[in-house]
Amino acid sequence: MATEIQIDERAREFVGSERPMLIGGDWVNSASGKTFEVFNPATGEVLANVAEGDSEDIDRAVKTARAAFEGGPWAKMSPSERGRIVHRIGDLILEHGDELAALETLDNGKPFAIARAADVPLAADLFHYMAGFATKLDGRTIAPTVPYMPDAEWHAYTLREPIGVVGQIIPWNFPLLMAAWKLGPALTTGCTIVLKPAEQTPLSALRLAELILEAGVPEGVLNVVTGFGETAGAALAAHDDVNKVAFTGSTEVGKEIVKAAAGNLKKLTLELGGKSPNVVYSDADMEDAIPGAANAIFFNHGQCCAAGSRLFVEHEHYDEVLEGVSKHADSIKVGSGLDPDTDMGPLVSQEQQDRVTGFLDQGKSDGAKAVTGGSAVDGPGYFVQPTVLSDTSADMSVEAEEIFGPVVTVKPFKDTDELIGAGNGTAYGLAAGVWTKDISKAHRTAKALRAGTVWVNCYNVFDASLPFGGYKESGWGREMGSEVLECYTETKSVCVQI
Ligand code: ADP
Repeated sequence: MATEIQIDERAREFVGSERPMLIGGDWVNSASGKTFEVFNPATGEVLANVAEGDSEDIDRAVKTARAAFEGGPWAKMSPSERGRIVHRIGDLILEHGDELAALETLDNGKPFAIARAADVPLAADLFHYMAGFATKLDGRTIAPTVPYMPDAEWHAYTLREPIGVVGQIIPWNFPLLMAAWKLGPALTTGCTIVLKPAEQTPLSALRLAELILEAGVPEGVLNVVTGFGETAGAALAAHDDVNKVAFTGSTEVGKEIVKAAAGNLKKLTLELGGKSPNVVYSDADMEDAIPGAANAIFFNHGQCCAAGSRLFVEHEHYDEVLEGVSKHADSIKVGSGLDPDTDMGPLVSQEQQDRVTGFLDQGKSDGAKAVTGGSAVDGPGYFVQPTVLSDTSADMSVEAEEIFGPVVTVKPFKDTDELIGAGNGTAYGLAAGVWTKDISKAHRTAKALRAGTVWVNCYNVFDASLPFGGYKESGWGREMGSEVLECYTETKSVCVQI
């Protein structure tokens, strides 16, 4: 192993002490006094002890967020000032980039270089991008007809108002970035928030919350309750005084959230699972398409809801692409995220490692062939080999279900009709990829695939300006872009008879 990357001193201090949660500007223990352990997935060692919030803490946080929404400095603040504060959060993320990237590597396992080059600047950019909208949440003027009052005169307009107290439940695959995706639009629109980070990876969200207070967000506007999904998360999803829940996670839990939200019919946005088709046509530039298809699945160790986990290759080039992607997989150096030579770190937890290897065992017994990989890597740490599977069919779980690990199935197709049928043959609809030099084929395929994002001659390109979300069982609503603002505002029609 090359010399380990030196962990930022502030990050080391941060993990070295018990981490309380944030309610109303105070860093507090849970009402029960309980804490839970957070593990370093590269070693299996305990990294930190974090306050274990439950329904009582959620209730306290929601009351605080409600008070901050109804009165106080946040409710009175001008859009311009709010926008400046949101922008400043982006600046602080960049200033603390080494520290935040180190926390991501320690807590989630991803290579430091990737966290530093991708997660941190993307999180900062999200706040910078959103900040500009604070002053542009305009309504419209409208000219009503009202046919049953033909002689009346009207002046009508709409107001865009913050939706209220928002619960945000986020996953462990991009802990900092998912917090940014959620907090950026909520703060920009003037909502108040209770954030519940994933129990596997709460650290960067806690540090981000400190930076958000430093940026000038008033006390009570952001509350962070750490704890487990079945307790803290479920209490937040069910709480009667929460106006909206924004959730990112598995489709299974998304359905639980829908049920929990029914009590007060709170608004929901759900960014859920995927089993995304990635298509390589014969006329693609194979020098780009082959490594591109490998990165589409192996980026972030396959722990991406948008991962290109079903690779379809036009039959003339099937053998070449299968071999090329497998060679690429073989060349991936798996190891600690603190080793600068590492391409791929561990999966996030023992549970996730067991889940992924369970899929691999099932796939092999169903008749799938592991061209490369196919197993866990001996511990310590929760590593799994980058895996390429051939000879799969649509009814096998490895091809039908979201694995959320470094596992891709590769299949040939004969023509576009067959490809579209197979590509869309899933309950999910989050993302898709198309590799071709034929511009008509690219657009035709992009249109025909039922997915919220289609990447052409690229994959896993995310930007604050690009709306992201799912068709079908991949979710409701959109993150990012201007579209996300619709999900954090209510539109009020004001109708005046003159
Ligand atoms: P994964 O299965 O990949 O861990 P989950 O969908 O279980 O993803 O978790 C995503 C987020 O949802 C986490 O913050 C988790 O704590 C939370 N969560 C899990 N179960 C529930 C639930 N029943 N209600 C609310 N939140 C939950």
